[in-house]
Amino acid sequence: MLLTCADVRKTFGSAVVLDGLDLSVDEHEVVALIGASGSGKSTLLRCINLLTEVDDGTITLDGEDITNPKINPDVVRRKIGLVFQSYNLFPHMTVLDNITLAPVKVHGKPPAAARELAMEWLNRVGLADKSGSYPDGLSGGQQQRVAIVRALVNSPRLLLLDEVTSALDPELVGEVLTMIRDLKGDGMTMILATHEMGFARQVADRVAFLDNGRVLEQGPPAQVLGDPVEARTRQFLARII
Ligand code: ADP
Ligand code: MG
Repeated sequence: MLLTCADVRKTFGSAVVLDGLDLSVDEHEVVALIGASGSGKSTLLRCINLLTEVDDGTITLDGEDITNPKINPDVVRRKIGLVFQSYNLFPHMTVLDNITLAPVKVHGKPPAAARELAMEWLNRVGLADKSGSYPDGLSGGQQQRVAIVRALVNSPRLLLLDEVTSALDPELVGEVLTMIRDLKGDGMTMILATHEMGFARQVADRVAFLDNGRVLEQGPPAQVLGDPVEARTRQFLARII
């Protein structure tokens, strides 16, 4: 397993958000995380990326316990990319500077090499001509693809995508989903929190349904989305589809 979350607990005040959650992800696997709003999808992804500290339980990446307080979070975050619903690009920086900032400033990559890698990725996703533009000169779909490239230039072992198409106009969703599908083709390991059930069905190897702070049900997309075992999964799907 590349990633193992074991018995992960997270509370905010009296709210138990993750309640002994278990989830494992194999190398090259794509797992779609579904569940009602507030079910803890974002919290789980933030815990995996060490933006939120777990109260209890362990998260292991590549055999290393990353919930160990002695671990350097910057080193872990280089191995785990996280992209949010709101692309969070820096508005006062060009596309190229947005992408190269962390590799150069945080990880000490030589600027020329960082720029070269950034341009390779921008070329691949058809955005090379936007490298000198500022984010507000790009469509939402283009900005989100830049945000994904920004995560990819660290060559992460694992990519976490949190509702990355939720803020987009419908006509811009497709270009982002195509990029994610291409990444799957490259063998990228991904966990994607999503409300796009059609996309989850197409691209995910496994769907995990979060409910009451646990993975209530998981399995192949056709089974979990088409013929769920649990009544609560059926209720959720009936509401959303
Ligand atoms: P989802 O992404 O599935 O919609 P979240 O992980 O965002 O769910 O939220 C799960 C629950 O945790 C919600 O009830 C939310 O209000 C609560 N929560 C998340 N982050 C915080 C925080 N920093 N402080 C307090 N409560 C939080
Ligand atoms: Mg969320």
